[in-house]
Amino acid sequence: MKPFEYARAAGTAEAVRDFAPGTMYLGGGTNLVDLMRLGVAEPERLVDVSRLPLDAIEETGDRVRVGATVRNTDLAADPLIRARYPMLARAVLTGASGQVRNVATVAGNLLQRTRCAYFQDITRPCNKRRPGSGCPAIEGDHAGLAILGASDACVATHPSDMAVALAALDAQVHVTGPGGDRIIPMPGLHRLPGEEPERDTVLEPGDLITAVELPPPPPGASHYRKVRERASFAFALVSIAAVLDVGADGKVAGCRIALGGVAHVPWRAERAEQALIGGPATGEAFLQAAEAELEQAAPLPRNAFKAPLARNLIVATLEGLAP
Ligand SMILES: Cc1cc2nc3c(=O)[nH]c(=O)nc-3n(C[C@H](O)[C@H](O)[C@H](O)COP(=O)(O)OP(=O)(O)OC[C@H]3O[C@@H](n4cnc5c(N)ncnc54)[C@H](O)[C@@H]3O)c2cc1C
Ligand code: SF4
Repeated sequence: MKPFEYARAAGTAEAVRDFAPGTMYLGGGTNLVDLMRLGVAEPERLVDVSRLPLDAIEETGDRVRVGATVRNTDLAADPLIRARYPMLARAVLTGASGQVRNVATVAGNLLQRTRCAYFQDITRPCNKRRPGSGCPAIEGDHAGLAILGASDACVATHPSDMAVALAALDAQVHVTGPGGDRIIPMPGLHRLPGEEPERDTVLEPGDLITAVELPPPPPGASHYRKVRERASFAFALVSIAAVLDVGADGKVAGCRIALGGVAHVPWRAERAEQALIGGPATGEAFLQAAEAELEQAAPLPRNAFKAPLARNLIVATLEGLAP
C-alpha cells in the first residue's frame, strides 16, 4: 500500500476547508481501505470523518434526518426507521455482514465503488479506474453487471442495497463542499457511466455528505427483496425496493419501484410505475408494467438472465404487496 497521511477531521467545516487534491474522506474504511490495499485507490491523505458529530437519527417535523456517520447496524436497528421505513432497514440488513455493518457508515455505503472484478484488478485495463484504457468486462466476465443504462465505456453496477431503498423513498442527500451546501435528490446522486465512467456520482472534489433526509413514508405497503448467489455476504444480482398503494376500488393509487444490481445507479423503474398508476392491481398488470420497464434493457450474453429475473422479481414483489 502506498504511504499516506492520516488526519482526524476536527469538524465538518474544517474537513471541507482543508480538502486538497490527493485527499480522500474516510468513513468506516470497509471499502476504501480494501481498494487501497489493492492499489486501486492511492490517496496521499485520508481525512477520517467517521467521528464527526453526524451520527444522529432524528425526526424533523414529518421527516427523518439520518446523519452521514450513522453506522449501518444502527440505522437498521433504529426504532424510528424500523417503524416508519421498514424497507430501508431490511435493505441495509441484506448487505455485507454484521461485522461490516457495525463499521460501515451511511455516506460510505452510498459512495462504495463497483465490485466489477476488472476495476479491482490493477493489472487489467478499466475505463473507470484508468479512463481510456478499455472495458474488458464487455467481452469478458460481465455476468453480474448492468443491463440498463450502460454505455460502450462501462457496464458496471452500483453495489449498494441502501441506495436502492433510498431511491424508492425519494430521499435527499445533504452535501457540504467547497461550493457551499446543497441537497441532491435520490435517485440523482449516482450517474450513468456515459463517456465518463470514472465519475460514479454528481459529487465534486471535496464534497462531504452530511446527512440523508427521508420524506414521510409514501402510503401503501413496502418491501425490499434481493436475489443473490448465496444467502449472506453477497451483492445483489437483482434487487427491488417497492411501494404499492391500492385504493378501495382495487386501482393502483401509488407505486414506487427501484431496482438494484442492474445499472450504474439505483434504477428507478419509472416506466413500470407510470404503467401501473390508475390501473388494476393484478398479476397481468404487474407483468405488463415489468415488461414495459425491461424493454429498454440491453443485456450482454452472460447477463441476459437478469432481464427475466428482474421481470419476475417485480411481478412477485408487487403480487406480495397487493391486498
Ligand atoms: C465482503 C463485503 C460484502 C459487502 N456486501 C455488501 C452488500 O451486499 N450490499 C451493500 O450495500 N454493501 C455491501 N458491502 C459494502 C459495505 O456496506 C461498504 O463497504 C460500506 O458501506 C462502505 O462504508 P464505509 O463507511 O466503510 O465507507 P468507506 O470505505 O470509508 O468509504 C467509501 C467511500 O465513501 C467516501 N466517503 C465516506 N464518507 C464520506 C462522506 N461523509 N462524504 C463524502 N465521501 C465519503 C470515501 O472517500 C470512499 O470513497 C460489502 C462490503 C464487504 C467488505
Ligand atoms: S465495466 Fe466499468 S468498471 Fe468494469 S472493467 Fe468495464 S469500465 Fe471497468
